[in-house]
Amino acid sequence: MSSRRKFLEKLTGSAVALAVLPKVVSAGGRGNDSRTLRVAIMGLGSYGTRVADAMQSCTRAKLVGAISGTPSKLVDWQRKYGIAAKNCYNYSNFDAVRDNPDIDAVYVITPNALHHDQVIRVARAGKHVICEKPMATDAKLAQEMVDACDKADVKLLVGYRMHFEPKTLEIIRMRKAGDFGKIKFFQGLAGFQIGDPSQWRLNRQLAGGGAMMDIGIYAVNGARYMVGEEPVWVTAQETKTDPVKFKEGVDETIQFQFGFPGGAVASCLSTYSMNNLDRFFLDAENGWAELFPATGYGPIRGRTFKGELSQPHITHQTVQMDEMAAILFDGKQPIVPVDGREAVKDMKIIDAIFEAVRTGKKISLHL
Ligand code: NDP
Repeated sequence: MSSRRKFLEKLTGSAVALAVLPKVVSAGGRGNDSRTLRVAIMGLGSYGTRVADAMQSCTRAKLVGAISGTPSKLVDWQRKYGIAAKNCYNYSNFDAVRDNPDIDAVYVITPNALHHDQVIRVARAGKHVICEKPMATDAKLAQEMVDACDKADVKLLVGYRMHFEPKTLEIIRMRKAGDFGKIKFFQGLAGFQIGDPSQWRLNRQLAGGGAMMDIGIYAVNGARYMVGEEPVWVTAQETKTDPVKFKEGVDETIQFQFGFPGGAVASCLSTYSMNNLDRFFLDAENGWAELFPATGYGPIRGRTFKGELSQPHITHQTVQMDEMAAILFDGKQPIVPVDGREAVKDMKIIDAIFEAVRTGKKISLHL
């Protein structure tokens, strides 16, 4: 046999071997002993379903359970995702997850105001918790969630999927490498035109606010990871064009500004009444960066003064859940943190934005 043929046969053999190896080996080189994060999703709505679909491509996280107030959804999910009936719960009995050795973590994807109690109940049941943004409806409640998880000795992570997005991370890498020089300005535009006036997002009791809690939080959080500092002051102004749709305590549009210790300033917009607003812009001494769209489900588009960013699109929720498995089980430190303490900072900033709107004053922050 010619050496070329032998070589080709060897190559084909190893390619076949690679194809049949468990995904976990080929994907991360982390080895077979890496534990799989077995997750139950709570709240089988639109985003819960997106996460469940994305998790079908995960290498380290697996959807194994579901918690819902709608029995028919539990039946559908058992069939669609191969979930065992014994791993399904409702909102009255999910504390029993404590006695289920097949679930490592619960991912809370319900309306914002429900996160606080649900996260604390999961923590008391001894399971790790992943909670959707906004973590809570104010910083005090958010801190109680962190404390409850500490007390129960479980970890709390928040679904900040952009913290794992490749183009976002490339800009952060460039900033840390000093490519931009001194950061001077950030602009974060976050908004969309909201439809159905009867949805929970426009109900203060369930949403904890309006656009700011839902979409403005991306500009709040983005300002922090793009500038790389914590804001030290906030000013904010609210405008409301439709007080019937956007009732008392449900913000329609808020413009807000931050000051950072290094001298940079940020100017941001959060709205439920304008489309095409999903853009981050960073300006600095030696250059600039733009993400547009910046936080949608992707593909994200990014440019800097050096040219177009070409990092590949990966389904955000797939990479998020795999990375969260590594954070929870291997103690991996993400480039931009996603833990509960990090999320409390966003809630403190949002509290300050609301205070600035109410008082018309510049509010100091100590994060
Ligand atoms: P949906 O309304 O589509 O789903 C919410 C689900 O929560 C419902 O389907 C229901 O599921 C459950 N639920 C429990 N109690 C209530 C209640 N009183 N009213 C309404 N629903 C209830 O919302 P989303 O999935 O869009 O949002 C859920 C969370 O995810 C929010 O916190 C939101 O901010 C966050 N989110 C995050 C995104 C991201 O990119 N990170 C994107 C979109 C949302 P069931 O019938 O199973 O009980």
